Amino acid sequence: MFDRFERKIDYLRISVTDKCNLRCTYCMPEEGVTPLRHEDLLTLEELAEVARAAVSLGVTKVRITGGEPLVRKGITSLVTMLAQMDGIRDLAMTTNGMRLAEFAPALVTAGLHRINVSLDTLDPARFAEITRGGDVRAVLAGIEAAQIAGLTPIKLNCVVRQSPDEPDARSVAVFGRQHGYEVRFIRQMNLAEGHFSVVIGGRGGDCPTCNRLRLSCDGRIRPCLFHDLQFSVREFGAEEALRRAVDAKPKCGGTSRSLIHAIGG
Ligand code: SAM
Ligand code: SF4
Repeated sequence: MFDRFERKIDYLRISVTDKCNLRCTYCMPEEGVTPLRHEDLLTLEELAEVARAAVSLGVTKVRITGGEPLVRKGITSLVTMLAQMDGIRDLAMTTNGMRLAEFAPALVTAGLHRINVSLDTLDPARFAEITRGGDVRAVLAGIEAAQIAGLTPIKLNCVVRQSPDEPDARSVAVFGRQHGYEVRFIRQMNLAEGHFSVVIGGRGGDCPTCNRLRLSCDGRIRPCLFHDLQFSVREFGAEEALRRAVDAKPKCGGTSRSLIHAIGG
C-alpha cells in the first residue's frame, strides 16, 4: 500500500494488551490506568485476522507490542498464527523483558524471529525507580535466554531524557557493546504536547519515511502515533479500516491525547 505522500506502508505494530507488569514513570501513572473492558479487547483470532488482512494489502513486517505483550494470555498462540502467514518476512516483539526468561523458548517454537527489549539502565536501584518496581536482573536473565534461544538480532530500546550521554544510557551502551546487542536511544516523548523525536539508531519518528500502521488491542487502526485519527475494525471491517487509515495517514505527526502504553509506542 502507498499513502497520499508516496510512502510505502508495509509495517504493522500490534498492541495486544493495555496491561503491564511495570509502571515506567514516562509511560504510565503510578496507580495504573483504568483497564479496557474484556469484551472490548480483540481476541487473539481477531488480532490475527486483522494482520492477515494487512498482509493481503502488502504488510511484510509485524511487531507485537503492548502494554506488555508477555502478560497477554495465549500470546504464543498469536505468534504461531502470525508465523504461519506467508507474507510476513519479519516478525518481532517489543517487551520489557520481565517474563522473557520464562517465554523465550516457547516464543522461538511459536515462530517469533527476533526481539527488542526495553532497558533504560543497568543499575538495579535506578531500574526499580524508573519502572516503579521492576527487577533489572530478571530483564538481564530474559535477554540472555533470548540470546540462547536464538531470538536474534537482539535490540535494546533505551529511553533517555535528553541524550545518550546520560549515565544510565551509557551503562546500556557499554552492555550492548559487550554482548553485541544493538542499542537504540529514544528521547522521552510527550504525545499530548507533541514532543516526539527520531529514534537514535532506529527508524521511528521520522515522518517522511514512516511506513507504519498500528493496531490497538481494542481494534482501532491508527495511522500515526502522534495523531488521534483511528479507524475501528469492528465498525469498518479489517480491510476497510486499514485502507482508510492508509488514506488518512498524515504527512507529519502532531499531538495525541492517547497514552503510549495503549497504542504500543
Ligand atoms: N512494555 C513493552 C516495553 O516496554 O518494551 C512494550 C510497550 S512500550 C509502550 C514500547 C516502547 O515505548 C518501550 O521501549 C518504551 O520504553 C517506549 N516508551 C514508552 N513511553 C515512552 C515515552 N513517553 N517516550 C518515549 N518512549 C516511550
Ligand atoms: Fe509497561 Fe512498557 Fe509502558 Fe514500561 S514502557 S510501563 S514496560 S508498557
